Amino acid sequence: MTAVVNSWIKAYLESGTVPALPDGHFIDGKVVPSLSGERMEIADPGMGRVFMSVAAAGADDVDAAVASALRGFRIWRDTAPMERGRVLARMAALMLRDMEQLAFAETVTVGKTYTESCNNVRSAARTFEYYAGAPDKLQGDSIPLGPAQLGMTLLEPLGVVTQIIPWNYPITTFARGIAPALAAGCSVIAKPAETTPLTAVMLAQLLCEAGLPAGACNVLLGLGTVAGAGLSAHPDVAHITFTGSPKVGTAVMTAAAQHYASVTMELGGKSPLIALADCDVEAAADGAVAAIYENAGQICSAGSRLVVDKRIHRPLVEAIAQRVARISVGHGLRGASMGAINSRRQMERILAFLDQAKALGSKVAFGGARHLDAVDPEGWFIQPTLLDDLATDHPCVQEEIFGPVLSVQVVDGIEDALRAANSTRYGLMAGIYSKDIGAALALARDIKSGQVTINNYWGGGVEVPFGGVEQSGFGREKGFAAVASYCRTKSLVAKVPYSQNARV
Ligand code: NAP
Ligand code: MG
Repeated sequence: MTAVVNSWIKAYLESGTVPALPDGHFIDGKVVPSLSGERMEIADPGMGRVFMSVAAAGADDVDAAVASALRGFRIWRDTAPMERGRVLARMAALMLRDMEQLAFAETVTVGKTYTESCNNVRSAARTFEYYAGAPDKLQGDSIPLGPAQLGMTLLEPLGVVTQIIPWNYPITTFARGIAPALAAGCSVIAKPAETTPLTAVMLAQLLCEAGLPAGACNVLLGLGTVAGAGLSAHPDVAHITFTGSPKVGTAVMTAAAQHYASVTMELGGKSPLIALADCDVEAAADGAVAAIYENAGQICSAGSRLVVDKRIHRPLVEAIAQRVARISVGHGLRGASMGAINSRRQMERILAFLDQAKALGSKVAFGGARHLDAVDPEGWFIQPTLLDDLATDHPCVQEEIFGPVLSVQVVDGIEDALRAANSTRYGLMAGIYSKDIGAALALARDIKSGQVTINNYWGGGVEVPFGGVEQSGFGREKGFAAVASYCRTKSLVAKVPYSQNARV
């Protein structure tokens, strides 16, 4: 760890001293306060206390951000594709240079562990690296129309696009949306969640340092109902990529429909990890623990349901419980292996699910309550929790809890596993554990899900398209599919002089 960040962490934990972190919007290449002077408080979830405040947008700030993005668009769209790629490549390098500063800011606002934050920066840098190769390879098609006409398609950037970002993965969600949008030649406005505003501004500053023209990446801080709703309704915003709850996603789509903006919707899930009777139980236990307790379960694609064959139910649940017992919960800067829940509201929402499960007489195989931390007693922590043998219609099987709660469904055979896996309104991710690759591939074919992994829940990377079906949303991020969603196709047909005799 660099001496600078080491001293930040020491001073912060010992005396609450906060380093100078950006506290305004990022508009036209500069950190700026709100035009009204309005501000909002930011809390550290691991300590359960406010530690700084930042600007909060009003309608004027929305207009200023869009005006800046329109100016930035004209410059960035016309920048040579090769140079656009170089800017994204430099961004990847700058993120790794500043990984520790970014990880500090991510940890004190999200609540996740410092190790998780560093891994998120590495993964986001890789996202910029991947899309750095895209701008000079975005090619249209030539269309055969016979000798008297030339037909082709041109790919054009959509214009100003908005990224509405939730609080669970601010750095990686920023990269996942903004890198492909910039690769396509769009300009962007990011609206981070109100509780996690800092790293988006730090990343926008790094993009400028990498050579991005002022205005091509703006960040608007503030409430979803003001900044998010204002951007969604703005007639000069051409596309909105939204990650968050289905309810707010519906509001964003309704606003976008009024001015014919396109949308990408990433709305979470209730993803199953399916352990068939013949699977490697130890590998499935490792996969299940990583799938739900990473980031304290605040992951849209978390493996929040374990669909397990009754023949291996006992040994697998025991193997998982043994691993869960080793998870230490605490402040993300104090070396714990699982951090905090992002807000008091979210912690209370999770506790309400756990209270309901207990009231229904459900079996709590591990955890099931708030974790009261000896060092940070005000921190917003939940014990890693395992709810065993739940019925299909149990609320903890049907609803996205968005916390460290694994719900177990016991099934009898492959067909029953498929029925259980497909039994929710969601369809984002599914993991299958089996030694029988034929059976696993058949399940993968029949599962209602945007992506399926076999014998490695978190398999894949930025190269693999990601998105949902049904209530998990639509549109695809990651992979080349993401760049396509920030481009539109213009068809061009030209009549050309033609004489058969003149052609050799
Ligand atoms: P949310 O309210 O949907 O927030 C997502 C983003 O949308 C935030 O930036 C939010 O700003 C913004 N927003 C809120 N109201 C808006 C509006 N009317 N128009 C435009 N943007 C708006 O999600 P949440 O409150 O953070 O979490 C609620 C639940 O959503 C969670 O418990 C979980 O089930 C789900 N969730 C899913 C994901 C995912 O990755 N798919 C991520 C987070 C949460 P503010 O921060 O100011 O509200
Ligand atoms: Mg919200």
